[in-house]
Amino acid sequence: MAEVELAHVSKWFADGQVAVDDVSLRVADGELLILVGPSGCGKSTTLNMIAGLEDISDGELRIGGRVVNGLGPAERDVAMVFQSYALYPHMTVRRNIGFPLSLAKVPRARIEQRVREVAELLDLTPWLDRKPGMLSGGQRQRVAMGRAIVRSPAVFLMDEPLSNLDATLRVATRTQVARLQRRLGTTMVYVTHDQVEAMTLGDRVAVLRAGRVQQVAAPVELYERPVNLFVAGFIGSPA
Ligand code: ADP
Ligand code: MG
Repeated sequence: MAEVELAHVSKWFADGQVAVDDVSLRVADGELLILVGPSGCGKSTTLNMIAGLEDISDGELRIGGRVVNGLGPAERDVAMVFQSYALYPHMTVRRNIGFPLSLAKVPRARIEQRVREVAELLDLTPWLDRKPGMLSGGQRQRVAMGRAIVRSPAVFLMDEPLSNLDATLRVATRTQVARLQRRLGTTMVYVTHDQVEAMTLGDRVAVLRAGRVQQVAAPVELYERPVNLFVAGFIGSPA
């Protein structure tokens, strides 16, 4: 059973623009699927529909085998990290990460224990008592990831989480995302417009163009056997 399954999902906006056009995708339990493609191809819209932040215009979306069309974000077991990370500037890293648990009235000792686990996973232990303003961009983005995973969501969604970072931090943080995924084993859908990021991080990569999936395959397969010139050109393979 796929953890996330899109069956003929489309999205059009009020102006009639079709942002996502008959997309079918299956993300296996524990898999890291990358959505990659040029700006405007429908990556964020697809992710927002999985998160429940956008309605689906047509098709069916299942999470953990359950049809979730029409359910709000809180009714799905998903968490999302965006490109621009909104941390609470007046709270320490510890309180930022633990915030979703505080809201859910989890006992303090349990919050502390869970925050420590998450901080350890993300190499944030030394900074637990700092405020976000004292951290690097990469550290801040890891705090945002920590806050997203602290409630152990079944599905973890990331929309270009590294695009605000400089090249060096991006490579370092990318390595941390890969490690996080291995250690958590959470199903992840990760959006990027960066081919190299897609090819190095993904178990499988879905290449989108103008709202349509061109090909879904493991990186080596995409590289060696692109289905069309767009995929070949975008991935940079020799075909
Ligand atoms: P990506 O994340 O791949 O850059 P998006 O999913 O943000 O692409 O956008 C896909 C298409 O849908 C674009 O043409 C964009 O202009 C359009 N779009 C996105 N959000 C809206 C909206 N709220 N209203 C109208 N059009 C939108
Ligand atoms: Mg986007």
